Amino acid sequence: MQAPLMDRFGRLHDNLRISVTDRCNIRCFYCMPEEGGQYAPRQEILSFEEIARFTRVAAGLGIRKLRLTGGEPLGRKDLHKLVGQLMGIEGIEDIALTTNAVLLGAQAKALYEAGLRRLNIHLDTLDREKFRQITRRDELPRVLESIEIAQRLGFGPIKLNAVAIEGLTEEDVVPLARFGRERGIEVRYIEYMPLDSQGLWDRRRVLTMDEMLERLRGEFGELEAVLEQDPRAPATEFRYGDGGGRVGFIASVSKPFCLNCNRIRLTGDGKLRYCLFAIEEMDVKGLLREGDDAAIEAAIRENLLRKWIGHEIGAARFVPPPRPMYAIGG
Ligand code: SAM
Ligand code: SF4
Repeated sequence: MQAPLMDRFGRLHDNLRISVTDRCNIRCFYCMPEEGGQYAPRQEILSFEEIARFTRVAAGLGIRKLRLTGGEPLGRKDLHKLVGQLMGIEGIEDIALTTNAVLLGAQAKALYEAGLRRLNIHLDTLDREKFRQITRRDELPRVLESIEIAQRLGFGPIKLNAVAIEGLTEEDVVPLARFGRERGIEVRYIEYMPLDSQGLWDRRRVLTMDEMLERLRGEFGELEAVLEQDPRAPATEFRYGDGGGRVGFIASVSKPFCLNCNRIRLTGDGKLRYCLFAIEEMDVKGLLREGDDAAIEAAIRENLLRKWIGHEIGAARFVPPPRPMYAIGG
């Protein structure tokens, strides 16, 4: 029996986020540049076999929950085959997918049959023109159609990830909440984080959880904090007083949740990261291609021992990570 994955601050880690690609089919301005972008050469991206091997080793150290992300994970051909491989790994209890859903409609059935159930679908607005403005692509109809298809197939829980930007998405908070309430989908508003590739982030553009709560209360009445939630989950959740389900906030900027962090990350090009905002990374691609499992285990433990107590977005000394969101894996 291996010792659990514990960092220097006593935080137990059982959660792994796997980025399967740094490429994306849309161009959200808070993540990607409008044109180009520096992608890793294809041979640098981990194969499904390498990802599965890494996961097997990590599961032996106590990793139980996986999230596949990117870039856009559905841009990776035959992603359902990876899901199938990961589902079969001993110890893995849960797999979720974070996607912009543009390609989900076409792949939903294969993913469902591979065993995937949990989806986080990225949707910031229901306004087609604003969607185009944010993502620089006119794909809202396909995203909405994908949500319908996924619900019809029986995926669940489905959550919506909505990045919240001051001066841009205030008017979308209530319509998105209504959309979620009508469909039994929890909306999670994500505070804008300094992870864009063009250095556009500005603290004043963060639409905070408190501001959004006020808008939601104005429309739907009282919202109660959910007390029985998993303290290690990143979202702060609330329940509509009228029985309309739940709504959540990833308040990374206004209320950081680092003290409860249980996550490690693997980038598409095989780098280990102990935090979304980490400045340093540790290569495991070389070990996956040439080393033995013991070396991979040692790398995971060593990386975790370097983990800091938390990011300091609010502090003057904060330094954004050298790679943008799409390259790290959100
Ligand atoms: N392409 C997929 C998607 O958009 O869901 C998966 C990768 S994306 C990097 C993961 C999540 O990061 C998205 O759901 C998006 O909401 C969030 N995100 C991207 N850039 C962000 C930023 N600068 N601040 C806050 N959230 C961001
Ligand atoms: Fe693509 Fe997701 Fe980044 Fe948007 S947030 S550009 S969908 S990787």
